[in-house]
Amino acid sequence: MRVIFLGPPGAGKGTQARILRDRFGLEQISTGDILRDNFARGTKLGTQAQTFMKRGQLVPDDLVIEMIEHELERARDGFVMDGFPRTVAQAQALDALLARRRVPLDAAIFFSGDRSALIARLAARWTNPRNGRTYNALTNPPKVAGIDDEDGGELVQREDDRAETVTKRLEVYDRQTRPLVEYYRRAGKLVEVDALASVKAVADRIAAAVGAQHARS
Ligand code: AMP
Repeated sequence: MRVIFLGPPGAGKGTQARILRDRFGLEQISTGDILRDNFARGTKLGTQAQTFMKRGQLVPDDLVIEMIEHELERARDGFVMDGFPRTVAQAQALDALLARRRVPLDAAIFFSGDRSALIARLAARWTNPRNGRTYNALTNPPKVAGIDDEDGGELVQREDDRAETVTKRLEVYDRQTRPLVEYYRRAGKLVEVDALASVKAVADRIAAAVGAQHARS
């Protein structure tokens, strides 16, 4: 099964990607997490990417596409991508990579939701920098503030979740990523979910939709 997640920052893509990965045994490919991990390890890619990430801009297509090509090698039995593609050029590159492997994309899940609610979610988001797991200080707090329930490590607020950078990321989303909704609608792959429903309701809707699309393709 091959699925991509589309939607603005704060829509719950990372949380749902982890759930879908566990439910169907897929590889999770979260480009933001991979880029942050590269930066933490001091790789050349991480250093190049950080300049764009801290300003809320997209990392150039060629860098991200090369990274995805590599990631697809370890995802031969299926994947959920969260955060890729984010531009039409990236979507076309993914189509070409899948065509070369003669495998279809099953579904593009589009997370839609009211802007102000999504912005509020980002402001309350706490992230485990080691694995990308997130909490929400208001709706899904950790048992001890600032500490991950599962690995006991420190949670942080992502630098790019600050209000000024969030505004920029939303602008970038509207201009560069939002056109992909039409791209995948035309391809007959688009499934829209209500990003503001409960975590469980969204997860069940996605599982039902991808199961049906997968049976069809
Ligand atoms: P995310 O964790 O998905 O919110 O991504 C954080 C940041 O990583 C974005 O604001 C971009 O700077 C960068 N990034 C992640 N995925 C991509 C992508 N597919 N194309 C370009 N930049 C990306």
